[in-house]
Amino acid sequence: MSSIRRDHPLLFLPGPTEVLPEVAQAGTLPMIGHRGPEISVLLKETMSKVAKVLATEGSVFPLCSSATGAMEGAIRNLVEGPVLHLVCGAFSKRWSKLRAACDVEGDEMVVEWGEPVEPEQVRRALRTRRYRAVTLVHNETSTGILNPLQEIAKVVREESDALLLVDTVSSMAAVELRLDEWGVDLCLAGTQKAWALPPGLTLVSVSERVLKESETARGKGMYFDWCLHRRKMDSWQTPNTPPIALLFQLRAALAHMESEGLQRRYQRHVAMRDRVLSWAAGRFAPFAREGYRSPTLTALALDSVDVAKWLQACRERGFVVGAGYGETKSRVFRVGHMGEIDPELLEECLTVLDEEWQKLRSGS
Ligand code: PLP
Repeated sequence: MSSIRRDHPLLFLPGPTEVLPEVAQAGTLPMIGHRGPEISVLLKETMSKVAKVLATEGSVFPLCSSATGAMEGAIRNLVEGPVLHLVCGAFSKRWSKLRAACDVEGDEMVVEWGEPVEPEQVRRALRTRRYRAVTLVHNETSTGILNPLQEIAKVVREESDALLLVDTVSSMAAVELRLDEWGVDLCLAGTQKAWALPPGLTLVSVSERVLKESETARGKGMYFDWCLHRRKMDSWQTPNTPPIALLFQLRAALAHMESEGLQRRYQRHVAMRDRVLSWAAGRFAPFAREGYRSPTLTALALDSVDVAKWLQACRERGFVVGAGYGETKSRVFRVGHMGEIDPELLEECLTVLDEEWQKLRSGS
């Protein structure tokens, strides 16, 4: 049974997510200096463990920004475009918007919302032009699609020398990632999703190829200069003051993850996805295509009730479920089942959703 506190509305959102009491508590530890020996011990322990979770020998470092900051950094550390964006929802579109705002050239390969990015389609796109980088969102939080990252990475390697920049915001720590083996050059995630920490810290992993590119990137500025972050990490330091309380919490979260076991953690997420799909069967249509449905959130389409009213009724009973995002806001709801949510808690949430659904339908 989960040790999540029950004195507040429980978050079944696609982030932020529930924080375990021991992890919350770790954020109240006495402060340490950001240039002393203690921070180096903390950074060495946490970043080495995160690298293990990501199966990478590349550089892993913390950023005091939300994930969008790291996405912008990923673009700014490029010497130039063009960049190919694999767009299948609102967050994969964000890569493209960011790139345009940074005045870098690029193209979009767009698939319909609810569909995955198909590797062979990527192959065709890569044959039309030589791209400097390709961006992907591994788990598209707006639609509930888990893209086939390993297969896409293989195609990117076969067809080009482009850097593969991947947003793993809502998959990291819930879905297995093997960055080096698969050939992912950069990945990033904010800690308020499957890491189950408060927001404010983003974890970034970069390959040697990304660092080589960054060496001569002229528009990268300073705060998001990957080379600077890498140099500082050589002595387990950060260029600027890191979010120390969040790093304490990350250490506690990693200890908890170790006790659960990574494979068990991944399987728990898949089991919760399957449970939501069986609960929905015959009533709510999964928005994402079969075979590509996310283990961390399920987007379900409906048309016959007022979603906002329904979700508000559930919230009043202590269960906060996500609405749709962007284009799908009015016809989709999203059940988040990531981080420290477990099958028993999820069951309670589904029961409340059911009861409130029946009330709305019967007009009571
Ligand atoms: N990418 C994905 C896949 C997301 O789900 C989100 C937020 O939900 C972001 C990027 C943006 O994260 P942030 O708002 O923390 O910058």
